[in-house]
Amino acid sequence: MDYNRILAEIAAEIEPLRNEGRQADYIPALAEVNPDRFGMCITSTKGDQIEWGDVEERFSIQSITKVFSLSMALSIMGEDLWERVGKEPSGSAFNSLVQLELDHGVPRNPFINAGAIVVADVLLSRLDRPQEQYIEFIRQIANDPSVDYDRRVAYSEREKGYVNAAIANMLKYYGNLNNDIEEVLRFYFLQCSVEMNCRQLSRAFLPFADRDKKFSFGNVNLTYSQVKRINAIMQTCGFYNDAGEYSYLVGLPGKSGVGGGIGAVYPGRYAVATWSPRLNVKGNSVMGMKALELLTTYTHESIF
Ligand code: GLU
Repeated sequence: MDYNRILAEIAAEIEPLRNEGRQADYIPALAEVNPDRFGMCITSTKGDQIEWGDVEERFSIQSITKVFSLSMALSIMGEDLWERVGKEPSGSAFNSLVQLELDHGVPRNPFINAGAIVVADVLLSRLDRPQEQYIEFIRQIANDPSVDYDRRVAYSEREKGYVNAAIANMLKYYGNLNNDIEEVLRFYFLQCSVEMNCRQLSRAFLPFADRDKKFSFGNVNLTYSQVKRINAIMQTCGFYNDAGEYSYLVGLPGKSGVGGGIGAVYPGRYAVATWSPRLNVKGNSVMGMKALELLTTYTHESIF
C-alpha cells in the first residue's frame, strides 16, 4: 500500500475544511495556538514512519494523556480500578457535572474528565513521585526523553478550571477522591499539559497496536488482554459524546484531546496521530477526524 500517496490525497481532500470549527479557548494558553495547522503521522509496528504536514510542531495533547494515565492505573490496580470508575460510554459532554451527580460520584469511564480525575487520585496515592514517574512513563512509551509537561498550559488551565474544580469537589463529596482536592487537580492539569508532536504521539500509541511486543515500560506492565481492553475503551469512550459518530466514520480505537490531537491504532499494524486545532462542537478535531475517516476508507483498513 502506498501510504505516502494516500496521505497526500487525504491532505488535498480535507483542505476545504481548513476554516471549519474553532480551537479550544476555555484554556487561555490553547487560544494562542495557530489554528491553521494540520499534521498526520503513521508509525508501523516495523518502526517506519509515514508523515504529512506539521508533524514536528509540538502541541498540548490534553485528554489523549488519559490513555497513558489509565495504563498506569490498570497496571497498578488491575480490575480493582473499576470499583471507582466505570467503563461505559458517557453520551454526555466530557466535563459533565450533571451526569456525575446522577451516577453518585462514580464517573462513567476513565476518558471523561471526572474519570480521569479519579485516575489521577489513584496515581497520587500509589506513586512515590507521581509527577516524575508519570512523565518518565510517557517518555519511555514515546521512546523519546525530550517529551515534557508544558507547565504554562497547566497553570493557565488551573486559573480557569472552574468546571474541573466542581467535578473534583463532587467526587470528594461522594467519597471517591482520597487526596486533597487541590493536589489532585494540580496533578490532573499537569498530566493534560504534556506536549508532543505527531511523530512522538504516533510512536507513543504504537504499544497499543503492537501485538508482538510485551507492554512493559519501567513499572508499567500490561498483559495482552489489558491492552486489548484499553483499546476497547478507546473505541467506545475515546471521543466523548462523539464516540458513536467517530466509530461509525473511522473504525479505529482512538483518543482525542481539546488541543486538536488524535491518537489511534490499527491493531497489529500501526498507530496514527493527527493534529489540527480547530474542533467541532463536541471538542474533536474537524480535520483530524476527517483525515482518519479517509484513511480507513482509502486503505480498507479498520477493525470492522
Ligand atoms: N484539560 C482538559 C480539561 O480538563 C482536557 C479536556 C480534553 O482534552 O478533552 O478540560
